[in-house]
Amino acid sequence: MSLRIGNGYDVHKLESGLPFFLGGVEIPHSRGALAHSDGDALIHALCDALLGAAALGDIGQHFPDTLPEYKGIDSKILLSKTVDLLRTQGYRPVNVDAVICLQAPKLAPFIPQMRTALAQILSIPQDAVSVKATTTESLGFVGREEGVAVYAVCLIETLDELD
Ligand code: MG
Repeated sequence: MSLRIGNGYDVHKLESGLPFFLGGVEIPHSRGALAHSDGDALIHALCDALLGAAALGDIGQHFPDTLPEYKGIDSKILLSKTVDLLRTQGYRPVNVDAVICLQAPKLAPFIPQMRTALAQILSIPQDAVSVKATTTESLGFVGREEGVAVYAVCLIETLDELD
């Protein structure tokens, strides 16, 4: 068995009147992410971390935002496709850890749901999925509530020959 590490980062601009998805959960808020897909920055950062761990490029390469088939797509589907892609290369996720940078709203009430949703798609236990949130103390684009940023890291391992 061999282990590999990956990291991912994503940013989406927030605008009034759009739905706001993070970690596969819709967050009640006056603003949402402007995007070609559903704009789930947590899932996008996670996809990039997983792809990075396997040295398989990035999310934009696999799911181009110029293709109509990805217009408004549920990012949970992109994560599922990413996990499938890793599996074809002989890898599976071990654990993931993410930090969401967002000034408002407070995300603590939604984190358990995010962990459940992500663990299910990744086929790993919920205690192998960590999601954290921080404000940026009102500094920068996050602090001005103009956008959301997410950092993610993951560990992947080679599939056992018996799997
Ligand atoms: Mg994105």
